Order: sequence, then C-alpha cells, then structure tokens
Amino acid sequence: MCIGRMRLILVPSNACGVIHMAIKYGWYYRLSEFFRKRFGHRIYKIPVHAAFTCPNRDGTIGSGGCTFCYNPSFSLAVAQEGISVREQVEQARAQKKKKYPKARFLVYFQSYTNTYGEVEHLRNLYDQALAAAEDIVGLAIATRPDCVNREILDILEGYAKRYHLWLEYGLQSAHNATLDRINRGHDCETFIKAVQETKGRGIFISAHIILGVPGERREQMRQTVELLNRLAVDGVKFHHLQVVKNTPLANDYLRGQVQTLTLDEYIPLICDLLEHLSPRIVVHRLVGETLDHDLLLAPHWEKQKSLIIQDIESELKRRKSYQGFLYRKL
Ligand code: SF4
Repeated sequence: MCIGRMRLILVPSNACGVIHMAIKYGWYYRLSEFFRKRFGHRIYKIPVHAAFTCPNRDGTIGSGGCTFCYNPSFSLAVAQEGISVREQVEQARAQKKKKYPKARFLVYFQSYTNTYGEVEHLRNLYDQALAAAEDIVGLAIATRPDCVNREILDILEGYAKRYHLWLEYGLQSAHNATLDRINRGHDCETFIKAVQETKGRGIFISAHIILGVPGERREQMRQTVELLNRLAVDGVKFHHLQVVKNTPLANDYLRGQVQTLTLDEYIPLICDLLEHLSPRIVVHRLVGETLDHDLLLAPHWEKQKSLIIQDIESELKRRKSYQGFLYRKL
C-alpha cells in the first residue's frame, strides 16, 4: 500500500519473526529521503573539479594509483579542468535553475583527493563554492582517510557549523589484503582512525565501498558493512567493481586474471548487504556508474541504472525484506 511517497508494508520482525507493520520510506534509506527530511525538498549535487591530485598518484604514497581508478570514467567534472570552482558552480547552477527554478544545491568536490592541499588553499576552494550563490546549502568532499588531520578537520568543522557538510572517505574494503591487492596505499585502521577523529564535529561521514573485488568473498563484503555499522557512519556508497581502460586492473582483465560480477550475481549480493546495513545509514548509491561507456571494459550489464535499482527493490520486496532486516547491534 502506498501513502504518498511512504510505503506501508507488512514485514516479518527482524527480532523474532513476528509479523508487524512498518511504515518505511521505501526499501532502503535513500539520500533523497534524507534531504527531504532535512531540507523539505530535493537537493541537487554540482560536481566540481578543483585540480587536486592524489598522494597515491603523485609519488607521495604511490605512483600507480588504485588499480581500478581512472577519474575521467566516473567524474564529469574532470572535463572542466581549467575553469575556477566558482565558475563551474555558477554554470551548473544556471543550467539546473532553468528547469528547476527553486532548486538548492550541494557542491560536490568529487575528483581525486579533495583535502590534499594546504589549509589556506582548501579554504579558498570551499569558500568559492559556497559563495557562488545563496542556494548552495553545503559541500560534499571526497577524500582518502589518510588525507585528513586535525587542522583540516578543524576547518571542516567550522563549515559544518554554517553549512551542510558530507565528508566521503574512500574505504573500498575493511580487509587489508584486499586494500593491498587494489593498491590503496592505506589500511583499514587508517580509515577507522579518520572516522573516529571526524565524529562529534557535526560533519556527516560516508564511506565508499566496492563489491566484487577479485579475491573477496561475500562474507568479507558483509564484514565491511558490519564495520560501517560499528563505526556508525552516516552514509555509504556501494559500487560494483568496474574495469575501465587506462588502469592496472584493465591490464589484469585483458590477461584473463579478473572476473566481474554479473547483474544476476550483483542483485542478490547488494540485497544481502542492505539487509545487514544499519537502518540509520543513508544509502547514497546502490550501484557504480561509468559515465563514458567507451571507457568501460566490464561488466556490460546493458541495463539503465534506474532499472537496476528497480530490480534491487523488487528483490527486497520479493524477500519481504528491507535495509536493516538482519542488522544486529554489535
Ligand atoms: S581512487 Fe582516489 S585514492 Fe585511489 S588513485 Fe584514484 S583518486 Fe587516488
């Protein structure tokens, strides 16, 4: 039964199997619902490229980068190199305003490592984004867990007092053997420390994880989700492993050393993980996306993202399940 956007569903209790009714905002906690609850309406993200690099590329930590990473494959903003952050925001905002005059925005520092720089430089970039218009409600900043320190977190805390602020940490897996295999250049303990040092500052914390990394078992992916539950992060982005050109992973794939998940494997997998995910963690993304299809080597699922999401919801519905159905507080 649907009541507006709310869906009234009959679900077995996760505690003792007794049937009870739950009023839920769909089958999982979407970012769009989080924004509606907080701001009363939809918030649009404006991705920007701020000409950062990454310590796993420039030789500070490593020079090859993570084996799967080729930023132009997932960030449209990379194409805007050479245009100031403020101009990027103004241009994207003006476009969106034509269609949605009442739109409000979150500026997304997406490409590479967006806290990798001197504090004054970071402040200048974030200020440019926030000063571009009054309807910018805040920032989302993607970074590595080894690229924050007390000084950077202090300035982010200052922004969080005045704006809405998400700090997105790339984790990918809670298993150090996996992190080594994909050449992350940091371990899981570094992520845990970064999350602990970010907590209590009014900053919303999310984590990116990748499903289907070669050598990882389903059980290990569940353990990654359980780590996020234990740390009580605020959000998660799920990606499936994608092999894109110009990456070390592509070389392994072309040598026949990498297998990617089929859609038929991914849907039950992501549903299993959602069932274990704490119901209070906001799901920012359910599936990865390669924006330039010419760059994608595998997998080719030949299905639009919106239809894949529908399939995931249908599977949860078929199971009479939902995010957190098997969640246990540890
Ligand atoms: S995924 Fe992030 S951390 Fe890894 S090489 Fe790419 S930009 Fe750097």
